[in-house]
Amino acid sequence: MPSRPVDVLIVGQGLAGSLLAWELIRQQARVMVIDSGETNASQVAAGLINPVTGKRLVKAAEIEQLLPAAMDCYQQLALAFKQQFFVPIPMVRLLKSEHERHIAQQRLVQAEYQAFLTDEPSCPPGINSAFGVLQQLQTGYIKIRQLLKCLQDFFVANGCYRQARLDYREIMFQPHLQWQDWQPRHIVFCEGHQGTVNPWFGKLPFQPVKGEILYCKTQAVSPIRILNFGYWMIPTEPHQFRLGATFDYTNLDTQPTERARHQLIQALTEVYPGLHPVEIVEHQAGIRPATQDKRPFIGSHPVYRHLHIFNGFGAKGSLAIPWYAQQFAAALNQAASIPDTVHVRRYYDSHFPSA
Ligand SMILES: Cc1cc2nc3c(=O)[nH]c(=O)nc-3n(C[C@H](O)[C@H](O)[C@H](O)COP(=O)(O)OP(=O)(O)OC[C@H]3O[C@@H](n4cnc5c(N)ncnc54)[C@H](O)[C@@H]3O)c2cc1C
Repeated sequence: MPSRPVDVLIVGQGLAGSLLAWELIRQQARVMVIDSGETNASQVAAGLINPVTGKRLVKAAEIEQLLPAAMDCYQQLALAFKQQFFVPIPMVRLLKSEHERHIAQQRLVQAEYQAFLTDEPSCPPGINSAFGVLQQLQTGYIKIRQLLKCLQDFFVANGCYRQARLDYREIMFQPHLQWQDWQPRHIVFCEGHQGTVNPWFGKLPFQPVKGEILYCKTQAVSPIRILNFGYWMIPTEPHQFRLGATFDYTNLDTQPTERARHQLIQALTEVYPGLHPVEIVEHQAGIRPATQDKRPFIGSHPVYRHLHIFNGFGAKGSLAIPWYAQQFAAALNQAASIPDTVHVRRYYDSHFPSA
């Protein structure tokens, strides 16, 4: 069979592979996307966009680039597919200690946090929060499942999608880069947590973390804002919400557990007793492709320069992937460079022993 040339073969159709493919196609590249078709982290994720996180209420690194790029990307996709994927909703952050309250007060007077945080003098009705609350701005969630389905249909319609699991042994380097009947100039691995078994990039310091999430119904009216209390509750319909997510670094499987279900419901009941009883309609688990230094892995292999990785977006894929997809697509076209902080070259000496 004759070889079919493409510019980029993308392995993985989670949010990373999908948005990278979309960006490359916009730049007129010939792209082929393959995916094993299994449920992935992106389909499980709540898709929250939350610029300020953690106990110390810290802005995400490069938020000034990430947030506008994300908003622009999801808006373009909304226009292309004639449906909204980003749902903006403000978030109420429950402060859990005197220390957190102190940090919140500091942040509220810092100029660089004004766009993201605002004071809320009293707790919303029905919420227990001994140390008060804060309102977070520019928050919301992405309807990732719907978005991935639209993008997959688009790739299929354009003849650039195949459901297949890539067997690494089928990649040939001579006389040219080849996988099955495809002859790509570049291969980009967007494999999520399965990147840990990749023969070229699997030694990178990944730190995969399992997360579980519940889809719930309640007779009570759920609040109109996202509640962030260590876990989060995202209202989706008047009597429906999503509740998540757990962090488990040890049991790296995708089985929902009774333990996580109990943990989530108990935590919600403590802060919002009036919502009880809650009916759980769906319970899912997935594995976040997190990294030890909390930064993505982007860039080419030190020896096999046509093999690349675009992975490691951890718990912040919805916010971070659009900007880095733009940067990486431009870098493949030699029109920009990948920022040093996320470039995989930071591990060339330590994690590519044969290079
Ligand atoms: C419970 C939970 C809640 C989360 N909540 C949020 C949130 O609120 N906000 C947020 O931003 N992020 C959240 N995340 C994280 C988010 O899921 C990730 O940041 C993002 O989706 C990762 O996307 P990805 O494309 O890198 O990986 P994935 O979505 O896992 O996609 C990787 C794809 O590659 C495919 N693949 C792998 N190897 C091969 C191969 N050899 N051949 C073919 N295909 C292959 C897989 O089948 C998969 O489809 C959450 C994650 C979990 C688990």
